[in-house]
Amino acid sequence: MGAHDGSLPSLTPYLRDIRERCTECGACTKACAFLSHYGTPKAIATGFDFSSPRHQAIAYECSLCSLCSAVCPEKLDPFRLFLEIRRLYVDGGHFDESAYGAILGYEKRGTSPLFSWYGLPEGCDTVFFPGCSLPGTRPEVTLRMFRDLQKAVPALGIVLDCCAKPSHDLGRQAHFEHVFGEMTGYLSDQGVKRVLVACPNCFKIFQHHGNGIAVQTVYEFIHANGFKAESKNGGREVGVHDPCALRSEVPVQKAVRGLLSEMGLTITELKHRGRRTVCCGEGGMVGFVKPEYAKAWGAIRQREASDRPMVAYCAGCTGFLNRVSPTIHIVDLLYRPEAALNGKLKVARAPFTYWNRLMLKRRLRQELNPKTSRIRQLSRAESQSST
Ligand code: SF4
Ligand code: SF4
Repeated sequence: MGAHDGSLPSLTPYLRDIRERCTECGACTKACAFLSHYGTPKAIATGFDFSSPRHQAIAYECSLCSLCSAVCPEKLDPFRLFLEIRRLYVDGGHFDESAYGAILGYEKRGTSPLFSWYGLPEGCDTVFFPGCSLPGTRPEVTLRMFRDLQKAVPALGIVLDCCAKPSHDLGRQAHFEHVFGEMTGYLSDQGVKRVLVACPNCFKIFQHHGNGIAVQTVYEFIHANGFKAESKNGGREVGVHDPCALRSEVPVQKAVRGLLSEMGLTITELKHRGRRTVCCGEGGMVGFVKPEYAKAWGAIRQREASDRPMVAYCAGCTGFLNRVSPTIHIVDLLYRPEAALNGKLKVARAPFTYWNRLMLKRRLRQELNPKTSRIRQLSRAESQSST
């Protein structure tokens, strides 16, 4: 045990486990540019002094993708150590918000009175939570999906809000718990028992912090409820990029593949898939501090895709991977397949995404006429708090 462990109680179990049980087999370092640079988790756990903010800062170079945990024969969790170090860094007052201004501004706008809206009809116990990206990049698809879900769940509500995953991943744990806890507390008080999410990151956040509210992806729901996608795509070959947030969620992975098969597409699996999928590059917001590590993930996908289009079921992954290799969001295949497969799809970018979100909110308010509605009213201090 290192000399500094006494001052790092929250890290001690992770450090001890990794120092004592990591065999330095190298399974986790193979695909990870961060570990390739700094060494095995054991080398990092023994060679760095994590009571020092300078050393703590390296945790922001880890994508928090959890591939290391997925491949570790010793069942170690290196990624949890790096997340915990981020929290320590924030709690110590060393976090520089300005380095992450773009993503924190995005999150703050998502939880603001201007962009948030909750519409809960009479008898609502299930809500659609489309997240931030889909309503901005694909407002029409989001609306059509909501209407389709309504056919199966007539009292379906909708929540336009941000799950605050950026704060969670940056280590702003107190802020995250406050913002997300307020949301789930409100939903529970209103009788909401289930959330249907389109975004894998929102899934993960509800799964681990949902305050008893069940979560399911819309992909599983759509597949289980027999929604029929157009199937004029006979034989077109695609690869599937599983998002790292869902690497352990076999039912979602199967549902997505089921939907693609029903659409007539032929899936040629990528080498890294399912439990061993790789990050798209967006994970952990590494691109803000180490863009080369973020790009290294994309390069793996580019090699594996080898010119066939990839299908992703995360708007963030789709946007990131599209920079290196053609990547289609499954919702585009469901709702506008020809344009998606012919490369003629128009996907909005900022600042138009913000306009789209406002227009979608307006249409939903006009259309839904809910029994209960609200916008988020976090105080200025709450929405700006960095801890
Ligand atoms: S979480 Fe991902 S980026 Fe971080 S150490 Fe593990 S494999 Fe590497
Ligand atoms: S896979 Fe596990 S045992 Fe092997 S080097 Fe990584 S952390 Fe150590």
